[in-house]
Amino acid sequence: MKGVVVPFVVFLSILTLCGSTLAAAPTALVLHDGLTETFAISLVNLLGHFREYEARTSPLNSTEYNEIISSEAVFVLMAYDSPPPGPQVREALEKRTGLTVFAGEHRWMGSSPSIMVCDRVSYRGNSFWIEGYAVRKKDNLFGETVVAMSQSGQDVPFIERNGNCWMIHGIPMFEVPAWIMADVLHDILGISHAQKRTAMLRLEDINPSYSGERLKKLRDCIEYLYSEGVPFSLAVFPVFINARGEPRALLITDNPPLMELLQRAEKMGGTVIMHGTSHQYHQVSGEGSEFWDVETDGPIPDEKAYFHERMRYGLWLFREAGLHPKLFEAPHYNMPLSLQKELSNYFGTIAGSLMITDESYTVSQDFPYIIHWSWAGLTVLPEQLGYIATDAESMSIVTILERLDILTAIMRDPFACFFYHPYVAGDLYLRELIPQIRDRGYVFVDVSQYGGDPLVEVFEADHIWPLAYSRVPLSRYLPLIIGLGGAVVLGMVYFRQKKKKKKEMFRE
Ligand SMILES: [Zn+2]
Ligand SMILES: [Zn+2]
Repeated sequence: MKGVVVPFVVFLSILTLCGSTLAAAPTALVLHDGLTETFAISLVNLLGHFREYEARTSPLNSTEYNEIISSEAVFVLMAYDSPPPGPQVREALEKRTGLTVFAGEHRWMGSSPSIMVCDRVSYRGNSFWIEGYAVRKKDNLFGETVVAMSQSGQDVPFIERNGNCWMIHGIPMFEVPAWIMADVLHDILGISHAQKRTAMLRLEDINPSYSGERLKKLRDCIEYLYSEGVPFSLAVFPVFINARGEPRALLITDNPPLMELLQRAEKMGGTVIMHGTSHQYHQVSGEGSEFWDVETDGPIPDEKAYFHERMRYGLWLFREAGLHPKLFEAPHYNMPLSLQKELSNYFGTIAGSLMITDESYTVSQDFPYIIHWSWAGLTVLPEQLGYIATDAESMSIVTILERLDILTAIMRDPFACFFYHPYVAGDLYLRELIPQIRDRGYVFVDVSQYGGDPLVEVFEADHIWPLAYSRVPLSRYLPLIIGLGGAVVLGMVYFRQKKKKKKEMFRE
């Protein structure tokens, strides 16, 4: 009997083990209609901060009854002009006992037509100015007020709670209201993360045109950060296109001093970010968005083929330059959802803000904390503090610190990031800003831990543009060299023979 029991117990424990590894993560279902799809995508991005849940969007009226009932968390997003949910959805929502969050404007639940445009919001003992946030008053309260807003001193609920049900009024997709909602999601989902202040710094727009004074300033930044033990990242694009009209490509491999400096930076705590390939579409490098046509505010024709060509070329050049990008950052953050999905063929991590539509680059989302799994399946290392602008350096530093203080006051686990162009003034402003960020309890982290090597290794790629410096490899000349060499040898043999014949003639 004993002999039978032991294998049975082992079998049972294997079953349990399999069960625990195969068990799907709890689902957070974000239901939307045509008017709230973008809001839903932005919310799924935020829910990606919580590894415990698997969040996804689903159209409200075509979602199965059982799915609504059985999902661990359901978010229902509607606008004032949304048609009311169908009877099946309504019944499922009424029957649900699990966590249910209503967000937006729910006319079917009694939102009134009159709008209040709020200018302040209170959260965690602080009052913040907000820019015209619209909420619709409800005739009766939903539950207890968790966060209140106000218009000229008159309070109105922003977030309410009634047991397992929550109501978020208005559409908080941007700035302070969005960050507050992002922080409250910890309470809504019942997931407490440790209080932790993380910081990231990007040295921005480093490219093959860096030489002389600019290169020295970049070196000064790297050496200062290294001496202070501040891990940093370098957003690099490996091709510089000089002008409109007849573009010529200056490659990173044309610039050995830059390559050597960046290779050294990688050993000094620097993480290279692939910041596109040429940082332009039609324009000069640095000015243009590479993966979105900002002139027409539309996608680039045949965007997928274009995207893969650029990615492969860029990755090949990084490889040739002996550099190891660990994540990606879209030039000017402009990359539609369609290409964010394609990006996961190359990198699992993206830096900066994200476009949340395929329609316009004007709708993009800043994140207050790290996102482990975005709507498109990427880890997002956000940026929300801005940068130090040329000719407005001191003002920029004030603005960065003001934004940092707002972020710190709202978030329990903020991930703060700013970026800096080393050509502005070398390490000068970093020396001013970095200690002030650290004084606020932030720790700069090595962001390579959130990224990884490119998922594709590119050993060869065709040039996309005519090169600024033509560098045809010796191997290309090999047939010519062999041909010429052969001709010389043949010529020598011929003349020798002729000479010999002449000599022999005279001998006779
Ligand atoms: Zn958190
Ligand atoms: Zn850039």
